[in-house]
Amino acid sequence: MTLSSSSTGSVSGGEPPFKIAIIGAGIGGLAFAIGCLKHKVPYTLYESADKYSIVGAGVGLGPNALRAMDMIDPRLRAMYNDISSGNLTPGKDHVMMDALYAEDGFGESRGWEAASFGAACYERTSAHRRDLLDILTSMIPKETVRFSKRVKTVEQRVDRVVITFEDGEVAEASAVIGSDGAKGPTRKFVLGERYPEEVAATYSGKYVYRSIIPMKDALEILGDHAGDAKSFIGHNVNFITFPISKGTQCNLVAFKFTDEPWTHDQWTRRVTKEEMVADFAHGVDKRLVKLLDWADPLQWSLHHHMNTPTYYNGLICLLGDLAHATTPHQASGAGQCIEDALVLSHLLGKVRDAKQLPLAFKAYDSIRRPRAQKVVKTSQEAGQLYTFTHPEAGEDMEKIVQNFRQRFLWIWEHDLEQDLREGDELFAKLTAAGQV
Ligand SMILES: Cc1cc2nc3c(=O)[nH]c(=O)nc-3n(C[C@H](O)[C@H](O)[C@H](O)COP(=O)(O)OP(=O)(O)OC[C@H]3O[C@@H](n4cnc5c(N)ncnc54)[C@H](O)[C@@H]3O)c2cc1C
Repeated sequence: MTLSSSSTGSVSGGEPPFKIAIIGAGIGGLAFAIGCLKHKVPYTLYESADKYSIVGAGVGLGPNALRAMDMIDPRLRAMYNDISSGNLTPGKDHVMMDALYAEDGFGESRGWEAASFGAACYERTSAHRRDLLDILTSMIPKETVRFSKRVKTVEQRVDRVVITFEDGEVAEASAVIGSDGAKGPTRKFVLGERYPEEVAATYSGKYVYRSIIPMKDALEILGDHAGDAKSFIGHNVNFITFPISKGTQCNLVAFKFTDEPWTHDQWTRRVTKEEMVADFAHGVDKRLVKLLDWADPLQWSLHHHMNTPTYYNGLICLLGDLAHATTPHQASGAGQCIEDALVLSHLLGKVRDAKQLPLAFKAYDSIRRPRAQKVVKTSQEAGQLYTFTHPEAGEDMEKIVQNFRQRFLWIWEHDLEQDLREGDELFAKLTAAGQV
């Protein structure tokens, strides 16, 4: 057994008297590490994989996520602008998606034409997840990251946290930020004793197939529909397409809703191509099914954390999907990770004594948890709209589109500066009351 301590991620001079261990180098952990660099918070980032992940397809970010990026570090936002893509049709900058029927003819026989939803405050941008991770990792000093470090246990002592890795190494830190994803082990060390029933993520009742299609092929199959973000809505199915990689590729997420529980050990399940296609045998236009030629026949089950009663326990704190994994129907999971990173790194930048760490976590929990959990809940409802099962909108496409024209505004228009101000006030009150 070797013993190490977290100490490498700060800029020299005025270093605070504590050290943070970040677990997991996904979008959440990386954005948080960048925030720590800005606020001179010393950290070490531990990642179980032997290198940064390149898994995943397209990610769309709303204006709240872009503002959060900008506030963490304006260079991040500038780099994102270079890798992101909007709708290809001029004049559709503020359109999040066009709604169409998934059925044969996309609703043409009903007289339905693509109906747009979005908002003046919204600008359509999506990126390949790999490119997004590339820009995040480009800002992280190599010496602050330790790969092939799979966390096994996180144990709290009076004034520090002891982390044990699968390889037998033991590390210590003043506090742990768990950003190890929806099924990460750190969650149980925050919730296990008090809320054991909330540790495991629950199955949301749907799985997806994902693919990236060369835009020239997508245009051949879908015509002009391919160039702009689209939601093809059907009974128990939903196809989402949008351009990524500067418009050279089309990202596809094909959702299948089921009444069956997810009974497999893994969250992904390999099926045959025939089984994948059979999932969309009824009520789906053949052009959409054709797009599955580029898809790996792998079902990605969607799990979420509908209830998370607290985001911290003493010196251990949750961030990103580990705290609030959500279904992707509002394209907001990564955005919420970035907001977490902004608020938590800002608050840790105020901490002057390690005893104040739980107070910073308490302030973070108050600011972030209500909003992030609301995203999880409303996202599940959005899934109903995308499959004609919403209790109010049902199969009424006009009502569905009207709902989409309103439903994202509270996410997109949110005042992040106000979050930071409220966080500061709360932290000041807590430290004054606790006299630390
Ligand atoms: C189909 C789909 C489409 C989506 N589309 C969008 C979208 O358009 N817009 C949007 O904003 N969001 C979207 N999301 C959500 C978004 O991808 C996630 O919210 C985000 O990637 C979560 O990042 P994270 O860093 O919290 O977790 P993760 O990306 O899961 O990262 C966790 C990291 O922790 C590491 N780890 C795990 N266990 C351990 C351990 N024991 N020890 C050490 N390290 C460990 C993992 O290797 C990984 O690197 C989508 C999600 C899905 C499934």
